[in-house]
Amino acid sequence: MSGTAVVEVDVAVIGGGVNGTGVLRDATLRGLSAILFERNDLAFGASGNSSGMIHGGPRYLTDDPEVTRTSCLDSGHIQAIAPHLLFRVPFVVPIGKEGTERTHIDLVDAFFEAYDAFQPLKHGKPHARLTPDELFRIEPGLFGGPAGGEGLTGGVSFDEWGIDGSRLCVANAVDARERGARVHTHTTVEAILRDASGVVRGVRAKDLLTGATFVVNARTVVNATGAWSTLTALAAQIAPASARVRPGKGIHVVFDRRLTNYGIIARAIDGRQIFIEPWQNVSVLGTTDDDYYGDLDDVRATSDEVRYLIEGVANVFPAIKTARAIGTTAGVRPTLYEYGPGEDELSRDHRVVDHAKDGAPGLYSMIGGKLASYRIFAELMTDILIAKLGRAATPCRTHVASLPGGERTASRRGLAERLGIDAIAASRLVYRHGARSERIAERIAEKPQEAAVVCLCEPVLEAEVRYVVANEWAATVDDVARRTRLGLGACGGMRCAARCGQIIAQERRMAPRDGARQALRFLTRQAATRAVAVGREQAQQEALAIAALRADLGPVVEEGE
Ligand SMILES: Cc1cc2nc3c(=O)[nH]c(=O)nc-3n(C[C@H](O)[C@H](O)[C@H](O)COP(=O)(O)OP(=O)(O)OC[C@H]3O[C@@H](n4cnc5c(N)ncnc54)[C@H](O)[C@@H]3O)c2cc1C
Repeated sequence: MSGTAVVEVDVAVIGGGVNGTGVLRDATLRGLSAILFERNDLAFGASGNSSGMIHGGPRYLTDDPEVTRTSCLDSGHIQAIAPHLLFRVPFVVPIGKEGTERTHIDLVDAFFEAYDAFQPLKHGKPHARLTPDELFRIEPGLFGGPAGGEGLTGGVSFDEWGIDGSRLCVANAVDARERGARVHTHTTVEAILRDASGVVRGVRAKDLLTGATFVVNARTVVNATGAWSTLTALAAQIAPASARVRPGKGIHVVFDRRLTNYGIIARAIDGRQIFIEPWQNVSVLGTTDDDYYGDLDDVRATSDEVRYLIEGVANVFPAIKTARAIGTTAGVRPTLYEYGPGEDELSRDHRVVDHAKDGAPGLYSMIGGKLASYRIFAELMTDILIAKLGRAATPCRTHVASLPGGERTASRRGLAERLGIDAIAASRLVYRHGARSERIAERIAEKPQEAAVVCLCEPVLEAEVRYVVANEWAATVDDVARRTRLGLGACGGMRCAARCGQIIAQERRMAPRDGARQALRFLTRQAATRAVAVGREQAQQEALAIAALRADLGPVVEEGE
């Protein structure tokens, strides 16, 4: 598809985050022809760097109860269509001490009673009021143990759900492709094309890996580029302010294991609510929320952001100071624009902007929203597209049609026994792929050598790496990491990136040196995001190891960079 305008579609979607992939799926389910362009990788932006909660957000209950309602409602739907991707994360809110909630426990209790009304929508358990003894029983590490609990009046527990945001985006994109959509990753939209009267007629895009450019004729174009939306408006030659967001940077610090049984809510030095949560097989500390006007394609946590979170969480969970931090994540929220309020006070609601008002009919921007309510947002967008295209109104089915892998339960134990693989590896495989783990198992049945473990930390099998390269648009080691969590554990990819690069080179028929180059890029990027968290000595060791690798690879690496 390079060079000339050969493709005709109903809708071209720009951006492969949860909103872009969500609308792509809904559009194809309702019979529209569609194409998606993602400049980096699926879930590269906020969707792959969120706190990974499909939650109602109790903190929105006071000012924005509709956001809580829609998020809880959609959380229930997402559980139904992708049950394999959801995991329960119960939280506790300790009350009374410095660094905790200071409002009287009766009020906090009443607040969560109000939140309970939304729990059935997402199959959550009602909250429970806890005495200090009960708090220590379920979370012995709180305040370093009962002796540190002086002043504590008790606590409240409430129920949430976690999700792997990257897998959610990939699942939506795979489903759309199976219904006829085209998906192009590492392909940036350079221009949104309009005719002489301003009507949108398609996009011009460039594949950043091959350099090929191409044009697509599209009757409608959806700007789902999150925090990049304002820049994308420029590509349509309309005023950037017409797709304005209030970009809010948020970071997380990742620890090498699950340190707590529950998520724990804490108060940072400035009174902001922060948390530590057990998430997949690690612990995550989050999050910050600061206006951000830097490079959206290279967002990184800084050491002061890391310290801010650790110091805040240490008030309620002192062991965090000696726990092993292994990395950071950073993303930018595409929050609805408002001038004045602090970032935490901004609405998490979503909105479709119809750029007919800017003289560009056929162009729409999806602004704001949450991972937890992406499906409802996509439904709203698709309803508008159907009306604009003059198609018969077709009911949305994204709340009932399973995402790939969610159609039935796969047996973790059965998979482990049949393939003779480690129970944890089987369990993680089933978590990521649900029923589709059978397809990976079929590869291993045919080629038993693909049962080899490539990444020990996660763990990840060779068959899965080959599968995501062949079936899920993984083109680089970073892409494989996003889909499988390869290289994101304690060793930061030092043990697996090179092998992963080799496999990618084989699968994509690239020269081995290109695989090595990719591995080095991954390690360099990982080291940069880890350096602010792992401590000086380990950061130095990693820098040395990477420098040695770079020297080994020599000009092979340098020439492509
Ligand atoms: C720190 C943090 C924590 C969060 N925690 C939660 C949470 O726990 N629960 C929750 O519900 N929500 C959470 N959110 C919010 C949620 O992640 C976002 O609202 C949501 O992911 C936005 O999705 P999106 O698709 O609009 O944007 P993004 O995921 O940012 O996707 C936009 C994509 O557009 C691509 N792009 C940009 N320009 C172009 C171009 N010209 N051509 C092609 N592609 C382009 C980018 O590469 C990017 O991948 C959090 C957000 C952050 C930052």
